[in-house]
Amino acid sequence: MENQNSRRVFFYPITFSPRFHSDSASHFSIKIEIFRRDIYRPITGKERLFGQTSLGPPIQLKFEIPSGFLASIEACRQHVSFVLADVEPRTREILVLYAIQLNGESRGRAFELKADAEDVEYHLMEESKGWTTCIPKSIPVHECSICLEELCDNEESIETHDCSHAFHKLCLWRWIRTKSSCPLCRHPIYARPKF
Ligand SMILES: [Zn+2]
Ligand SMILES: [Zn+2]
Repeated sequence: MENQNSRRVFFYPITFSPRFHSDSASHFSIKIEIFRRDIYRPITGKERLFGQTSLGPPIQLKFEIPSGFLASIEACRQHVSFVLADVEPRTREILVLYAIQLNGESRGRAFELKADAEDVEYHLMEESKGWTTCIPKSIPVHECSICLEELCDNEESIETHDCSHAFHKLCLWRWIRTKSSCPLCRHPIYARPKF
């Protein structure tokens, strides 16, 4: 279902903790989750989140990079590519690059890497491109009830579609990775729009 309103965004691993050892192989483990998010973007006003759909169970990978392979970037890259053979090609490409960069930083010593990654497919419905939707009346808010910090009326904030509660985008993205209801009123936000 490719169209001009869809784009894929890969978020680099959010957390990682390289651990150096003098003499052992390097371990690389990563959990990849793939989502689709439907967002309505009016000409004026805040973007609205219709919902998020998980596009499959999380992919969990853990593998070892033999220390010998760390000597050569090309050998390391081939090894990582081989281990990730079943991963979707675009994601694999980025993971390979990422692993290689860390290898460069480790200066040939072993490391252990743990990472979480999200691959998000955004579907934007833009009012300027003919999408219309029934927008509930906005409820004015001044703070994000996830982080309790100030909420400015700018691109960093987003509203839920049905209940019109506003949050920082990043706060809401983190929240809906694990929960499918509005952080403030618990109204479900997983529902997909009707196309
Ligand atoms: Zn926040
Ligand atoms: Zn709400």
